[in-house]
Amino acid sequence: MDHKTILKNLKLCIQLMELHEENSFKIRSYQSALNSLERGDQDLMDLSEDEIQKIPGVGKSISEAILSLKESESFALLDELLEKTPTGILEILQIKGLGPKKVKILWQELGITSTHELMEACQSGKVAKIKGFGEKTQQTIIENLEFKASNEGKWLYADVEEIIENLSNDLKALYEGSELAIVGDFARKTEIIAEAEWLIGMESLFGGKEKLKKWSAIQWDMAASGPFAWRGKLKDFDLQITVHFCSKKDFIWKKMILSASPLFLNENVADKTSIGDLIHKKDFNSEEEFFSKNELQFIPVEMREGYGEVMLAKDKKIGKLLKDSDLKGILHNHSTYSDGKHSLKQMAEHCKELGFEYLGISDHSRTAFYAGGLEVERIVKQHQEIDELNKELAPFKIFKGIESDILPDGSLDYPDDVLASFDFIVSSIHSILNMDIRKATHRLLTAIENPYTTILGHPTGRLLLRRAGYPIDHKSIIDSCAKNNVVIEINANPWRLDLDWRWVRYAMDQGVKLSINPDAHEMDGYADMHYGVLVGRKGGLTKEMTLNTLSVDQITEYLEKRKSSIISPSK
Ligand SMILES: [Zn+2]
Ligand SMILES: [Zn+2]
Repeated sequence: MDHKTILKNLKLCIQLMELHEENSFKIRSYQSALNSLERGDQDLMDLSEDEIQKIPGVGKSISEAILSLKESESFALLDELLEKTPTGILEILQIKGLGPKKVKILWQELGITSTHELMEACQSGKVAKIKGFGEKTQQTIIENLEFKASNEGKWLYADVEEIIENLSNDLKALYEGSELAIVGDFARKTEIIAEAEWLIGMESLFGGKEKLKKWSAIQWDMAASGPFAWRGKLKDFDLQITVHFCSKKDFIWKKMILSASPLFLNENVADKTSIGDLIHKKDFNSEEEFFSKNELQFIPVEMREGYGEVMLAKDKKIGKLLKDSDLKGILHNHSTYSDGKHSLKQMAEHCKELGFEYLGISDHSRTAFYAGGLEVERIVKQHQEIDELNKELAPFKIFKGIESDILPDGSLDYPDDVLASFDFIVSSIHSILNMDIRKATHRLLTAIENPYTTILGHPTGRLLLRRAGYPIDHKSIIDSCAKNNVVIEINANPWRLDLDWRWVRYAMDQGVKLSINPDAHEMDGYADMHYGVLVGRKGGLTKEMTLNTLSVDQITEYLEKRKSSIISPSK
């Protein structure tokens, strides 16, 4: 059990109490305890019984529940509620837009206790007819169920990275002396992974596959397996596993085929000759030889997606890709001034310890009241603290920023004189996400045209595997960023990875710089920049086109110059 899981269980308990219409005072007391725990920055796992009881809103019975969760991963009330709830209902409770009250009505009036039954009831129009539901709610439920089903068995790259690397080590031990490579989507570091695939090249294929039976982590599906590929599933994790076999002499070309996307293999190099055709000639001994023989620049594995990189390689236009070590500073981060977990000082000192030259702090603006957005007085206070820390930590530097909400009409969240007090501004949309492409694009364009916008934050608002994000006209957004000298962030949080890497090339071609921003809400959050670099590389991102590869002096100059170019409309 960890802090986050404890909060998750308390939340589930509240949902179930609402579902079963428990005493409303009790529900409210749990809710206020949860709110208080979510706001606090202390890890429940580090606190004693006494300390937990002293947290505002917690009290004796809830602190006992927390202790029980820490010790036995559950507590009496939760067990009791779970006992009388069908498991399918738990799944339905996770569907967005369906609170416990609505779930209860579906359960009581239509006898729905599984997502499958819910889908059927929606499709036959029964749900729309229930009082308080209607056509629109029914349609939203269908869309959310479809979204959920299409994401079954899929994982964020970051969530399976370690698992797959450990499995790789298992395989290496089993197949010592053989050639072995990770292939498939994971080899290309795609943002979502549904399958882990390996290729094993052996001297003799005879009997070698039998060794896989010793690999106890996998449940093999012999009906789906064949002589050149074994398929199965990881036993305690919903992840598809495939192990391909070939002879050692076929290893290189097979590896190239199995790690590229089908779109890449179909890209034409010359009239009627695709890159896949060339690989199938098998007339090379290394990947480097393959590319040079065909007069192509080497295409790194993660770029082999079929998004125009073959033409680039033909024209020798693939730049040197960005590396983790190229990053000199970290922009777009939160502190306890808004909804971050660590103080400004902690965030700054940790950033410095990691060897970075600067930190851009950008807490939430005032409209984001749910995230502790900053009123003007708090901004003044934060700026004073930054000035003091900058003296203390020099030559390390903290830049004064804000993540300004883009309001529904596209304007930013403070008057111009307040906006002018920042070194940089990340402009992002956080509310009223339900927009069509015209509205969303217009809202963003207005914000980009605002001279105070330095960086456009997470352009589509998507959360991978959770919500699709509002639709935007990427080309006009990027074109406008080029015109207004606005940087676009690649939000490096593994849930976001937004700007999508598929648009990185277009942005670079228009001269728009990208910034790898972790959007860190705690010190450990900086590590997410790694995932931003990975997807940036997929899009061909270079060091030159990445804002935060600038040194502290260079970025100081960049931000000052940009600010001095703003002609205040009031003057
Ligand atoms: Zn944000
Ligand atoms: Zn943020």
